[in-house]
Amino acid sequence: MVELIVTDAELVTMAPDAGPADSMLIRDGRIAAVGQAEAIRAAAPGADEVRLGGATVIPGLIDAHCHVADIGYLAAAADCGQPSAPDIAAIQARLRQAAERTPGGSWVTGAGYAEYKLREGRHPNRAELDAAVPNRPAVLYHTSLHVCVLNTAALREAGFAENQPDPPGGAFGRDSEGRLDGVLYEAPMFALFEQNIRRDLAQAGTAGAKLVETAGERLASFGLTSACDADMRRDTFAAFAEADAAGLLRQRIYGLVVHDQVDWLLGAGLQGRHSGQLATEAVKIWADGGMSSRTAAIHGTYPVPPHGSGILYFEGDELTGMVRDFDARGFQVCIHAQGDRAIEIVLDAYAAVLTPGGGNPRRHRIEHGGAMYPPLAAQAAELGIVVASQPGFLSSLGDGFAAAFPDRGDQLYAFASWQQAGITVAGSSDAPVITADPRIGIRDAIVRRTGDGRVLGPAERLTARDALALYTTQAAYACHREGEIGSLEPGKLADFVVLDQNPLETEPGQIPDIGVLATVLGGTPVYQSGSIFPGR
Ligand SMILES: [Zn+2]
Repeated sequence: MVELIVTDAELVTMAPDAGPADSMLIRDGRIAAVGQAEAIRAAAPGADEVRLGGATVIPGLIDAHCHVADIGYLAAAADCGQPSAPDIAAIQARLRQAAERTPGGSWVTGAGYAEYKLREGRHPNRAELDAAVPNRPAVLYHTSLHVCVLNTAALREAGFAENQPDPPGGAFGRDSEGRLDGVLYEAPMFALFEQNIRRDLAQAGTAGAKLVETAGERLASFGLTSACDADMRRDTFAAFAEADAAGLLRQRIYGLVVHDQVDWLLGAGLQGRHSGQLATEAVKIWADGGMSSRTAAIHGTYPVPPHGSGILYFEGDELTGMVRDFDARGFQVCIHAQGDRAIEIVLDAYAAVLTPGGGNPRRHRIEHGGAMYPPLAAQAAELGIVVASQPGFLSSLGDGFAAAFPDRGDQLYAFASWQQAGITVAGSSDAPVITADPRIGIRDAIVRRTGDGRVLGPAERLTARDALALYTTQAAYACHREGEIGSLEPGKLADFVVLDQNPLETEPGQIPDIGVLATVLGGTPVYQSGSIFPGR
């Protein structure tokens, strides 16, 4: 029996009716008791003690929707984000350096730029990438991961022809003569990203586990102890399983398996819980495009380019058939739906499989739910649908939302209204689309301030406690794990974070500056900025 007392702390337990607590007893990786020091010591005389000097302890944070493998993959790319690469010349220099360390046969990869933050105020083009990396394929991913730029060698290797028409669901940037300028928007970008990560994972072989480990290290440094991987496939599953077997996972990974991989998963007998840290109990489907790219399927048309009504991936009947099938096979279904037109058909599909009055036992989810306006929210609440959404989009992408939805910007990501309607909303980042740092999401859920300083939907601001609940109790519920994680209560797993400030008492704008002193998973530290837990 291994016992440890964490004491001299301020515990934010997130438990429904918890009294004040400054101490917690951990026994064999689980929480055995929470309360005041005297009582905790009496429960475990002689146990080792770690004094936290008044630091705050919160439940381990949970990201209900991110792309863990992609985070690890892009961590190896040249950092071309702003402000560190303020102009195209700086991006070129970084790609040149990356070319020197990238093994032959692999593409030179850069990531993180936003054209509107560059000094030039535009996307770099193919000629500029050619100047940096002339003889081998190079790709530069936009921070949104909805756009990228290719050099000539990459365009050639990916099979894009100069006079190629725009594909459905996407577009190519072109110069004044109509030649490809190297910029890919949406569908061809997604296809290329998939192809690149799959190829590099295959080449990496067992290094797939390393990639997952790299992502896990980063997430642990933000206080994350659990994450839903929102597009798990056969190869990324293998990487997670290998990392799990080697003890390299720093989070509990809840896999949302891409719908076209389900037959493989079932054939291999891999549905369900594989260990305390790896599970595949949910299926991921995409109903429409993205908000920042203006491809979310909406009623009406966007007043900004590309001026369409968005992209719907399935007809209602087809989607309903898929939901029915996966529900019957025991999966929780998680559907990406951003625009109101998409959310409508997703809710109809869910309504077709849920029995009235029977609730939503598999906790079928909507991922994102950006334009879930009041009537749709009411229907979602009625059905008991769980929504995994991303408050952190507000600061990074909110100005783009406001431009795309000039009349309804205040109704997007309406967390307070959804909460009042009775919907369980889980917090998440969608990283690497934006940072995985939940401190950003918690702040944004409270203040809703865009990059330009406008408050998007002032009525939709949450209290600090409700914002923290998104990433703890409610995210745990979204993964069927509320009996094990999400709050500091006896019997639950000892997943917790030690912070240098209490987020419930910090001025909201300062929440991202709160220091993560340690992240602990099942009683074992998986990240420390200092040495709170000596010899561990
Ligand atoms: Zn996503």
